[in-house]
Amino acid sequence: MYIRTGDTVRVLAGVDRGKQSRVISVDRAAGKALVEGIARIYKHVRRSQKHPQGGRLSKEAPVQLSNLAYVCSSCGKATRLGARFTADGTKERYCKKCSASAGEIAPPKKAHAAK
Ligand SMILES: [Zn+2]
Repeated sequence: MYIRTGDTVRVLAGVDRGKQSRVISVDRAAGKALVEGIARIYKHVRRSQKHPQGGRLSKEAPVQLSNLAYVCSSCGKATRLGARFTADGTKERYCKKCSASAGEIAPPKKAHAAK
């Protein structure tokens, strides 16, 4: 699972199916992510210090990661991500459709560097 905070994703299921947006946060333990403007719900809040008026608060609900597809920034397609090592041993994510790098996920390591 290679979706990370800040990624652009396409929503594959639910009321916001087909929409594209940015990942706000990822909960790896739950396998879910919050996506900007996607799956908005109303949370009813009681009056409190933080919410003196109480009422309905609109916010994003977590979306199952399997219902999200990474959108490649270089080819613009919804794609799967792979992981590979670059020549200097840096681990990076890459687009499986155009094989463009999608940013590094681990610092360079000699053991993985090309010989
Ligand atoms: Zn691509």
